[in-house]
Amino acid sequence: MPTDPIPRTMQAVVYRGVNDLRVETVPVPRCGAHEVLVKVVACGVCPTDIKKIQYGTVPAPRILGHETAGTLVKVGARVEGWRVGDRVALHHHVPCLDCHACRHGAYAQCPQYLRTGITAGFEPAGGGYAEYVRVMRFCLPGLVKIPRKNSFLEGAMLEPVNTVLKAVNRLNLLPGDTVMVAGQGPIGLMFTGLLAARGMRVVATDFMAPRRKMARRYGARQALAPDSAEVAKVIRSATRGRGLDAAVVAVPVEAAVQQAQAQVRGGGQVLLFAHTRRGERGPVEYADICVDEKDLIGSYSSDFTLQREVARWVFSRRLDVRPLITHTLPLAQTAEAVKLAAQPTPQSLKVAVVQD
Ligand SMILES: [Zn+2]
Ligand SMILES: [Zn+2]
Repeated sequence: MPTDPIPRTMQAVVYRGVNDLRVETVPVPRCGAHEVLVKVVACGVCPTDIKKIQYGTVPAPRILGHETAGTLVKVGARVEGWRVGDRVALHHHVPCLDCHACRHGAYAQCPQYLRTGITAGFEPAGGGYAEYVRVMRFCLPGLVKIPRKNSFLEGAMLEPVNTVLKAVNRLNLLPGDTVMVAGQGPIGLMFTGLLAARGMRVVATDFMAPRRKMARRYGARQALAPDSAEVAKVIRSATRGRGLDAAVVAVPVEAAVQQAQAQVRGGGQVLLFAHTRRGERGPVEYADICVDEKDLIGSYSSDFTLQREVARWVFSRRLDVRPLITHTLPLAQTAEAVKLAAQPTPQSLKVAVVQD
């Protein structure tokens, strides 16, 4: 397969400080014998990127973007199993599978996992908002081949879908159980879709009507505004008065946590997925946890061991992620893409940066 020569420099969107993203010319990363170089085609805008950019939670400069898919343009001499031209999806965090945290299945707490192994320059930070990224040796096991019939955008969704499947697996559910998913943004809709496909009765909530419509399309039995009196009624009748078996809070809102805790039955679970900001606190009634045995749990980031299963869900389109991607912008407009993702409109869901 003929490929274009790899240039010495490339365009990249560099995070230079709070709300300061600049298109700059930077060197194309050099790829070592145990590494690969990827020409980026698609990179999803993730809420964690937005947080870093808007609150300056990481030092500048860096090149962000980690929901990345593209084509291999260089394969190090010592790398086996991959060829130039392969279409791939990337994972920027890969656990060692051997440390104390990994032996407990807490991959997101593994020291190796906490290192970012994909870079377009500066401190490794994902690099998906650039033309090329270098994948370091320890992140090679995170490479997933994208089948011919699937798009790069679908490949770029493997990472977020993985984080959702990991969280779903933390819930003790039986088929037919009733689960509320609060917030029907791209992540909330992935929860709705996966839970419904696994035979759960999903009650979806969101303030935006088009998102509620989308939730029904993804299998929600009911989709309601969160402040509607119907929510409690619907849950009562769906569960014969027992209450929810679980609730997923996929929106960083205090009222959603309160509602979830109130609507979950004794012995049920409330899972926080969107409360990623340090320093935020809320009231907890300890007896809810101690006497009613309502578990308050969280889930963060992906589970490397689910990679194959996630690829099956997405590439078979049993969980069809295509309707979730409503906006694609070119690399030069990454700042606009981030802004749009940060202030969603009723018509916008997932925003992605794409290149040819
Ligand atoms: Zn992400
Ligand atoms: Zn580990």
